[in-house]
Amino acid sequence: MNIILLGPPGAGKGTQAQILVEGRNMVQLSTGDMLREARTSGTEMGKIVADVMDRGDLVTDEIVIGLIREKLEAGGASGGFIFDGFPRTLAQADALGELLKEEGQSLDAVIEMRVDDDTLVRRVVNRAEEAKAAGQAVRADDNAESMKTRLMAYYKQTSPLIGYYYAKGNLSSIDGLGDIDEVKARISEILG
Ligand code: ADP
Repeated sequence: MNIILLGPPGAGKGTQAQILVEGRNMVQLSTGDMLREARTSGTEMGKIVADVMDRGDLVTDEIVIGLIREKLEAGGASGGFIFDGFPRTLAQADALGELLKEEGQSLDAVIEMRVDDDTLVRRVVNRAEEAKAAGQAVRADDNAESMKTRLMAYYKQTSPLIGYYYAKGNLSSIDGLGDIDEVKARISEILG
């Protein structure tokens, strides 16, 4: 089973993806994680993406589609893939459809996680404060200023995917408020 977790920054996609990895033997493909890895590698691409990410803007479709292509071609997900933070644009959504077709795979569900904007901003700012208090690295884009840009990128570029997948017949929407287990249960209900 291949699924997409769709939602704004701070919706809890990464947290729920991790739960699905542990519980269902799925493989998480997070373009955010891949890009954070790329930027620490000191490669040319890493340098280019670092600035864009810290601002909260989207990295080019070409780069992220290339990253996903590599992972899909490598294969090896017995429980299927969870796409987390990808696709984020219509061009990425089209490319994913093509890539899955080439691999003889299907897209089984798109789960939209709904969380109101005030809560999103609060969660992200809290995440940064908790990391700081624990002496951990704070994501450079986890601040109120970058969060505005990230939310704007979501509404301008990513939210059209809700209609796109609705029209394809893949979309399920859940309430992303509540504790982690409650949200997990809502996702389980959809995936069966
Ligand atoms: P979030 O918590 O905002 O969902 P991610 O960890 O998924 O954050 O992504 C962090 C940043 O990485 C984004 O703000 C963007 O700059 C970049 N990024 C991640 N995935 C994509 C993508 N599919 N397309 C373009 N940029 C991406």
